[in-house]
Amino acid sequence: MASEFELIARYFTRTAPVGLLGVGDDCALFPVPAGEQVATSTDLLLEGRHFFPDVDPRALGHKSLAVNLSDLAAMGARPIGCVLGLALPRLDEPWLAAFAEGFHALAAAHGCPLIGGDTTRSAHDLAISVTVFGAVPAGQALRRDAAQAGDDIWVSGELGAADVAYRLLDGKYPANDALLAATRAALEWPQPQVALGMALRGIAHAAVDLSDGLLQDLGHILAASRLGASLEVDRLPVAAAVAALDDAPRRRAVLGGGDVYQLCFTAPAAQREAVQAAASAASAQVTRVGRTLAQPGLQVLDGQGRPLADLPGGFDHFPDA
Ligand code: ADP
Ligand code: MG
Repeated sequence: MASEFELIARYFTRTAPVGLLGVGDDCALFPVPAGEQVATSTDLLLEGRHFFPDVDPRALGHKSLAVNLSDLAAMGARPIGCVLGLALPRLDEPWLAAFAEGFHALAAAHGCPLIGGDTTRSAHDLAISVTVFGAVPAGQALRRDAAQAGDDIWVSGELGAADVAYRLLDGKYPANDALLAATRAALEWPQPQVALGMALRGIAHAAVDLSDGLLQDLGHILAASRLGASLEVDRLPVAAAVAALDDAPRRRAVLGGGDVYQLCFTAPAAQREAVQAAASAASAQVTRVGRTLAQPGLQVLDGQGRPLADLPGGFDHFPDA
């Protein structure tokens, strides 16, 4: 049976890029470029809460890092490296090999090498904690508190598919193989918008990544910037598989559905062409969906300009707190 150190050597040790000290010492070391700030973020993923116990381990390795890279993207930061904490209930080497493969593949794609971590046995469930480090030119991060009244509100990619896949897998929606096939990749293989976030520096005012649903995450920008907003429901980019659903589930998925890992950002109207140019440079799709208002409150307007009633909420781990 492999020891903890053999496991780390086998699955989590990769040659660190020149100039970085990776796995093997008490700390990892990386240089901080002059004139830049370090951006860092942690996400904890728990079995049964953030992923299904039987999820494909390669997808889980990918997503564990993807949700963290998405936070760097939302700040406009360039990835430097990451560390991985693992609490494993059992030693399942094929599982670990697949998890590591998914993790390292995304790390390589974004130049975000795994440079350290911690591995321990868990009495019960599997827990995964990833911390990412990135760099951003001092003062240029895309902060939530930097939106201004009258900004356009933009969304990258498409909305709704991850929520529908989650509800199908969780049994909240009746089984539908075709719909699951069309939505599952959005839930299990999110693609963090790192290049777009970096390209938006100096163009966008504020940004957030969509982890808990558009209304809730946009709400964070509005609260931090002390603004309101109006969105036009007919402008929202809806994933094709979701567009065919009835009004209620479609709106819930698009406005309240989490796990999207696309960016929502604000930018002055004078920057519309610059936003589109940044998006094409980053091979991303962006859609203008509304605008911020000096008056607090978030409204979603239908095709006739009437505010929708009964807006879906986003995800909240402590809804009764
Ligand atoms: P320490 O006892 O000093 O915490 P460990 O024995 O836990 O060190 O880890 C040995 C080395 O392996 C360290 O460099 C640590 O960063 C790395 N490491 C441990 N677990 C992981 C992991 N899951 N992923 C990447 N690196 C890891
Ligand atoms: Mg340790």
